[in-house]
Amino acid sequence: MEARTQKQSAGSRHTAAIDDPSASQNVAEGLPAAQVWDSIYAALYAAYGPQHWWPAETRFEMIVGAYLTQATSWRSVERSLNNLRAAGLLSIAGIRRTPEEELRAWIRPSGFAQRKAASLHAFVRFLDRQYRGSLNQLRQQHPTIAREQLLSLPGVGPETADAILLYALDHPAIVVDEYLRRVSRRHGLSSGLSSGKLFDEKLRDMAARMLRQRRLHSTEREDAGEFHALIVEVGKRHCRATAQCAGCPLEKFLPSTRSGAEVYDKF
Ligand code: SF4
Repeated sequence: MEARTQKQSAGSRHTAAIDDPSASQNVAEGLPAAQVWDSIYAALYAAYGPQHWWPAETRFEMIVGAYLTQATSWRSVERSLNNLRAAGLLSIAGIRRTPEEELRAWIRPSGFAQRKAASLHAFVRFLDRQYRGSLNQLRQQHPTIAREQLLSLPGVGPETADAILLYALDHPAIVVDEYLRRVSRRHGLSSGLSSGKLFDEKLRDMAARMLRQRRLHSTEREDAGEFHALIVEVGKRHCRATAQCAGCPLEKFLPSTRSGAEVYDKF
């Protein structure tokens, strides 16, 4: 109920910005959606600069972080990672040899310890069974197959799988998270959809197409990494549950009228 109230409040504030032509001077109306996303990416990069994600010292640490960050803040994740690091367990071998009950205690700060400990063990078992315990071997797997395998593991949904593919395995995956959905919906880029698997798939396709068409960086992988990090940044600073459009680098891309929200309604 509370979440619903927040959503309604966010919607009405955003609609006020859309209905007031002076509230935004849209610079991209009429452009194909991929081009609008491209402009959004460029504007965020100009505003925030390179993000150089993911905050982890090793690929495996990044994977552990991707599991632990589900449904919790990064600050809580850091406390769990610090526990594991201090205990000398932040490695494949460390997780492998740690009994599940003990692992739960180390990762308790990031919540859902029972489920997350079981999922981390399942990941290491998968790596041992399919790739001889080697992340490098997993990196050499075709990304489509690797994605399917990751999605078949407990505790791994599309967002976690794509974050692992992108930041730990160096594939140009698109991470569809709540921040990206919000920006898409609020800027009329959601093709009439507001949630669901189809919405996420269309968003992923759209962003992938945009990154292929024009690059800010030397590789598609680098672009994908920066794009996700920048969307998270604008989400944390402005595009929260209640949108704070004033001063946002994407304010100029807001639809200038209610009907303008339909302008980009094509993926
Ligand atoms: S991205 Fe910025 S301008 Fe766009 S809806 Fe969110 S807060 Fe408003």
